[in-house]
Amino acid sequence: MTDYGKIYDKLASIVDEHNIKMDEILKNHTYTKLGGKADIFITPSTYEEVQSIVKFARQENVPFTLLGNGSNLIVKDGGIRGIVILLKNFNQISTDGNQLMAQSGAAIIDASRYALQERLSGLEFACGIPGTVGGALFMNAGAYGGEIKDALDYAIVVDSDGEIVKRSAADLELSYRTSNIPEKGDIVLEAVFTLKPGNYEEIKAIMDDLTFKRESKQPLEYPSCGSVFKRPPGYFAGKLIQDSGLQGTRIGGAEVSTKHAGFIVNKDNATAEEYISLIKHVQKTVKEKFNVSLEREVKIIGEDL
Ligand code: FAD
Repeated sequence: MTDYGKIYDKLASIVDEHNIKMDEILKNHTYTKLGGKADIFITPSTYEEVQSIVKFARQENVPFTLLGNGSNLIVKDGGIRGIVILLKNFNQISTDGNQLMAQSGAAIIDASRYALQERLSGLEFACGIPGTVGGALFMNAGAYGGEIKDALDYAIVVDSDGEIVKRSAADLELSYRTSNIPEKGDIVLEAVFTLKPGNYEEIKAIMDDLTFKRESKQPLEYPSCGSVFKRPPGYFAGKLIQDSGLQGTRIGGAEVSTKHAGFIVNKDNATAEEYISLIKHVQKTVKEKFNVSLEREVKIIGEDL
């Protein structure tokens, strides 16, 4: 059996004890409001601490999981074994000429707004994506014709050996909603974007337009994971779900949004089990009606109860 007391003691010699919690309830840290407990929940304050945690976890064979804003994650009801790392203390954003540096725990929305204030264009597309910079790189987040790949110059990561390494955008192999970050086991510490000088009013007009589109089409009043499914070649997931008559279908507290069929909302204290059952029901129904397989965009992690 894992001796979590011993692991706690070791971690407490790496980070301040205030930054370590046992049995932390993860639904309080996920945008989806789903997720059981993390055995150990840690919020490091320096890059050196992240390196030490990775080295310790590798050496002792303790699993660890990175959490961003949990806006593309379903954490199961049984929670996550081992260490969950949240990089919320890394939230600095700055610019140097046309380059914008954002730490991984900063909201990508804040990076987009910062760019506007600095009259830099290139991150307008990200103005409504409710994830962190780290999560956005991991997913190569994108919207309305833009994606991280278009703007990213390089990232600073902690690699699987616990070393700090620079990765160019090309190194990360960013493509539609994927990167090689999970394969390599990298932890993103910061991202540097190369932007273009722009006009404040023009950048703001684009951001206002995208915000209006989001607010009018997406059920932002409820917790969700955004688009549950990737775009199937030649189709739109939302349209297939809508044409299957699934909008408003409910399992427990989870519901296929009546506002945007591509979203499943956590309408009333859904469990992860209910949410996942509804995803499977949608996949099965669309397959039966249209013979199209919907691939999940959202990640499911953790254990069943
Ligand atoms: P999380 O969900 O917390 O994590 C996602 C993955 O990234 C996990 O595997 C996690 O381990 C990993 N990760 C997180 N941080 C790091 C790090 N520092 N280093 C290494 N790995 C890390 N997505 C889009 O692409 N376009 C959209 O337009 C869009 N709209 C959305 C609208 C709504 C209302 C919602 C709820 C979601 C939307 N999303 C969209 C999905 C989501 O916001 C993005 O995928 C976002 O990039 C996820 O970031 P996160 O910080 O929440 O990551």
